[in-house]
Amino acid sequence: MGDFISSSTHKSRKIHKCNHCGQVIEIGSIYEKTAGVFQGDFIAAKSHLECEKAWYFFNWDKDGPKWGDPYDGALPLSDMDWWEDVDKELMLEKFPIVHERMWASND
Ligand SMILES: [Zn+2]
Repeated sequence: MGDFISSSTHKSRKIHKCNHCGQVIEIGSIYEKTAGVFQGDFIAAKSHLECEKAWYFFNWDKDGPKWGDPYDGALPLSDMDWWEDVDKELMLEKFPIVHERMWASND
């Protein structure tokens, strides 16, 4: 059986933890649910919509994953270790709410 991944949006009925920033997804907020099988591994993740958008922004362009192997691009935002100041500034400009979730408490 081949790989498949599907995403859908849901309204949160209980507290979840965001796959990307590690922060709480509040009850009643809309979140993105991703599930599927990728290279034999079952994937299931829930994330803030903004975090998901930011993840796409930094990892994918219109032709596909920026980094070649899509699995490399599948790392959650918080597991990426290449953040430079310039990337953080771009995040602040494009996705201020995600910037705050990711780094506000650390800086
Ligand atoms: Zn998040």
